[in-house]
Amino acid sequence: MRFSTRAGADGDKNDKNDDRFPASGSKKYLDHDSDSSDDGSSGNSSADEDEQSWISWFCSLKGNEFFCEVDEEYIQDDFNLSGLSSMVPYYDYALDLILDVESPNDDMLTEQQHELVESAAEMLYGLIHARYILTSRGMVAMLEKYKQCHFGRCPRVYCNNHPCLPVGTSDVFRTATVKIFCPKCEDIYFPRSKYQGNIDGAYYGTTFPHLFLMTYGYLKPQRSNAAYVPRIFGFKIREKLAPGGEKSEPGANRGGGGARAPDGGEAKEGGKADAAGA
Ligand SMILES: [Zn+2]
Repeated sequence: MRFSTRAGADGDKNDKNDDRFPASGSKKYLDHDSDSSDDGSSGNSSADEDEQSWISWFCSLKGNEFFCEVDEEYIQDDFNLSGLSSMVPYYDYALDLILDVESPNDDMLTEQQHELVESAAEMLYGLIHARYILTSRGMVAMLEKYKQCHFGRCPRVYCNNHPCLPVGTSDVFRTATVKIFCPKCEDIYFPRSKYQGNIDGAYYGTTFPHLFLMTYGYLKPQRSNAAYVPRIFGFKIREKLAPGGEKSEPGANRGGGGARAPDGGEAKEGGKADAAGA
């Protein structure tokens, strides 16, 4: 969409923030549009913008692909936001911004305060999002995104590009960035996009993918047991020689499939890998 032209911002956090939010941004990015192109497309963009809610706009930004759109009804229910007002600065302004409520006091804010409100809105939306995706409606929204592979795929070769789910390693804001969890190998990885890699992990939380897979049990794949076996000139590498001091010989390894390894666990692993590879 129109934000795709923003790729030039090149990951700089400040640049990114400047472009991300509509309140001060709307003027800014319209200016930006007229700088870069004066053709019909900028006209279409401003028409779009009138109809687009802050939430849709925010979720469509580069790097925000992991966010689902939280129902406005959910945000309007104070019960769902309990405790957040003490965590987020400019809470009321941020909430108005998220819900597209025109606030009469908006004009009283300086430009710097506007920017603070904008980043507060991002934080508030993220923290609401973390709660929302644990509700049944939130899970349905995330299910749609999962089916479309919006959260990326496992980089591990033996997982065969299995789709992943977003996860935080902490529920505390500003502790760690978001990671992706692969249901097949049950491990976590950095997202591929550096934009996604800057998003706070607390906006997804530590519980989400596991509750999601428990809720939609049919989506849980069989755990991948295949393991990569390092080889040198085709031979498995022994950590140490067998007790008798025998040397590794091609014939011995070919048939044995690692059975001669001193460590029973290793031998078993090797056997499995061979079976999977065959
Ligand atoms: Zn995996």
